[in-house]
Amino acid sequence: MQSEELWQTALSEIELFISKANFITWFKNTKIVSNADGMIVISVPNGFAKEWLENKYNSYILKALKNIQPDIKMVSCVIATPKENQLPPKREVMVDAIVAPKNYNQKYQEKKTFSVNLENNLNPKYVFEKFIVGGNNELAHAACVAVSQNLGKIYNPLFIYGGVGLGKTHLIQSIGNEILRKDPNFKVKYITSERFTSELISSLQEQKINEFKEYYQKIDILIIDDIQFISGKEKTQEEFFHIFNYLYQLNKQIVLSSDRPPKAIQILEERLRSRFEGGMIADVSKPDLETRLAILQKKVADENLEINQEALNFIATNIKNNIRELEGALNRLIVSAQLTKKEITLEFATNQLSELISSGKKKGITYKQILKAISSFYDITIDDLILKNRKKEVVRPRQIAMYLMRSELQFSYPGIGEKLGGRDHTTAIHAYEKISKNLLSDEKLSEEVSQIREQIYKID
Ligand code: ADP
Ligand code: MG
Repeated sequence: MQSEELWQTALSEIELFISKANFITWFKNTKIVSNADGMIVISVPNGFAKEWLENKYNSYILKALKNIQPDIKMVSCVIATPKENQLPPKREVMVDAIVAPKNYNQKYQEKKTFSVNLENNLNPKYVFEKFIVGGNNELAHAACVAVSQNLGKIYNPLFIYGGVGLGKTHLIQSIGNEILRKDPNFKVKYITSERFTSELISSLQEQKINEFKEYYQKIDILIIDDIQFISGKEKTQEEFFHIFNYLYQLNKQIVLSSDRPPKAIQILEERLRSRFEGGMIADVSKPDLETRLAILQKKVADENLEINQEALNFIATNIKNNIRELEGALNRLIVSAQLTKKEITLEFATNQLSELISSGKKKGITYKQILKAISSFYDITIDDLILKNRKKEVVRPRQIAMYLMRSELQFSYPGIGEKLGGRDHTTAIHAYEKISKNLLSDEKLSEEVSQIREQIYKID
C-alpha cells in the first residue's frame, strides 16, 4: 500500500478516537514520509504537533497503523521543511492567492476561521452549593472558597490535585462561577491545558500569537484544568510561563488543577514547577462512606427523586473509587427504573449494579491468581509473599498483593492477613492505605499495578 493511502486509512481510524477539534489541530498537514523496516516517519508542520503526536497520540497512531500493516513497530515525527509542508507559508499564499491552485485557497480559508476563544467556558452547574464537603476535600474546598473571596491576595497560584472524578473540575469552576455571581464584569477564564495548547498553536499558525497573548493578559482570573498535560510540551510551557508571570505580577489570580502534585509532573520546566509550588497546594482524595452517601442524598434531594435509603446505602457502600462513578451508578439506576417503571429498592439496585460492582469476584478471580501474577511480575516466589521476610524486594510486592486482594476481591482485612501467612489485620490496612495513597503520585507504581491487573484479568 502506498504511504498516502496507508496514512489516510490510519487517520480515518484515529479520527474515531479523538475529538474533532484535536484531530484537526494535530493531524492537519501531516503525512508519512518514510516507511521502512517497521519504522514510520510522519512529517508534521511544527514542533508542537511533533510533541503531541509523539507523546500523547503515539499509541493511537501505532495501533491504527498496525491494524493495516502489522509489521509496523515504531512511529516518529519530523518537522517538515516549508517545501515539504503542504501549506505554503502565509506570505506566499497572499502573494500567490490569485494563481494558487484551488485547494490552496480552500486550505487558506479554513485556516482563517481561527479566533481566540472568548468564552469563559464555565459550566453553571459547578457551584459551591452543590459541592459536598468531606474529610477528603475539606482543605481544597476551603482554599477555593477563600480564593473566591480574596482574588489574587492569599493563595496564588492555587494548585488542586487528586485522582479522576474526585471533584477538581467542580471545585475550580465553582471559584469562577462564584466570582461572576458577585461581579459579572470580572474576566474569568476557565480552560483545560489541552485546549489552551491547541489554541496557542492555532494562533501561531494564524500569526495571531499577539492577539492570543493580549487576550490572556487581560484576564482577572485564569483557571487551567488538568495542567499535567503540558508535561513534555516545551513550547507550551514557555508561553504559559510568560502569561503566568505577567498575570502573577499584576496580582491576578491563577488556579490550576492536576492529577498529581507539581513535583510528580514529569518533564516540567523547573521554573514552572517552582511557580506552581510557590502558592497553595491542596489535594482531593477518595471520599469516605459518609461523604459518598451525602453526595448521593444531595443529588436525590436536588432532583426531587424518591429512592429507598437502603438502595442508596448499597450504592455508597459499593462504589468507592470516585464520584463520577458514584453519580454514574445513580443515574443508571434512575434511568432503568424509569424505563421499567419500577421502584428503586435494594433488590433492584443490587440487580442493576451487579455488573459494576466487584468485578474480580464476578469474573471468578481468586486471591491465588493475584499472588501468582505478582510473583511472576516481580520475579519472586509466592512463599516470599507469604512467609515472614522483610527484605525490601518483597515488602512492596506484598503490599500490592494486599491492596489488590482488597480492591479486586473485597477481602476483609483480617481475611487478607490470614491468607498472607497469618499477619495482623492492621498490617493489611496499612498496606492498602499506603498503596492507595502512593498510587496518586507515583507513576511507576501505578504503571506496575495496572500491568499486574491486566495479567490477572487476562483470558488465557
Ligand atoms: P475531576 O475533575 O476531579 O475528575 P469532577 O469535578 O469532574 O472530577 O467531578 C466528577 C463529578 O462528581 C462531577 O459531576 C461533580 O459534580 C461530582 N462531584 C465531585 N465531587 C463532588 C462533591 N464533593 N460533591 C458533589 N458532587 C461532586
Ligand atoms: Mg476534571
